[in-house]
Amino acid sequence: MQDLDFQTHLIPCLSDNYAVLLHEAQSGQTVLVDAPEEEPILKALAEKGWTLTHILITHHHWDHTQALESIKAQTGAKVYGPKVSLDKVPQIDEGLEDGSEVPFGESGFLAMGTPGHTLDHISYWIPDAEMAFTGDAFFSLGCGRVFEGNLKDMWFAIDRIAKLPPETIIYCGHEYTEANGNFCLSIEPDNEHLKRRMEEVKSLRADGKPTLPTTMLEERATNSFIRANDPDVKKALGMEGKEDWEVFAEIRTRKDNF
Ligand code: ZN
Ligand code: FE
Repeated sequence: MQDLDFQTHLIPCLSDNYAVLLHEAQSGQTVLVDAPEEEPILKALAEKGWTLTHILITHHHWDHTQALESIKAQTGAKVYGPKVSLDKVPQIDEGLEDGSEVPFGESGFLAMGTPGHTLDHISYWIPDAEMAFTGDAFFSLGCGRVFEGNLKDMWFAIDRIAKLPPETIIYCGHEYTEANGNFCLSIEPDNEHLKRRMEEVKSLRADGKPTLPTTMLEERATNSFIRANDPDVKKALGMEGKEDWEVFAEIRTRKDNF
């Protein structure tokens, strides 16, 4: 099989949301991950000359679904999203569960149930493109606030994302990297990888540029939330001998009050 040729386009929406387009040249198919705002998404599709075929929804929150109805009506794209949220997001054509597959061109997405931020949250992994779309479950240098699930659910969700291959390119639902990183520095002030990443993040933001995508290799070295299982992080918190999820719960609780 010939190598597939994937192209992405990151679209800033609302105040700090992102939508992402992924286009695969051989099949001509294009997927949109999340639908925060109609105008910038339709504009990006027109500029690229891509025809939207798929829309993937990560979770039911308004800032990820509000443009779904209009974009679906104007493009005819098929909408995939969490099966448990069919009542909240009636535009979903095909409901997904953990382990569901979404065919896309010559390859496909795997739906990973990642509850915690919301109970319905799905992250999407496309192994052939070495990419994952983590919505509000996992952020660069952070993770989502725990609204519907519990802290233990959230730890297992982000630890699962963290175990994707290190070369995996990660797109997330919000531009929260700088604030997250300032918090991570309060947990790991001596983490050299984190300090270097924050220099890069500050200069990107000063130029008005996105800090995404990131890679799992980078996040494993810098994101204190997924590093809750790291002996250095446990030690820094005086939590040696505690379970990974308990250390994560302490970090998440500190962030809520940061
Ligand atoms: Zn959300
Ligand atoms: Fe959100």
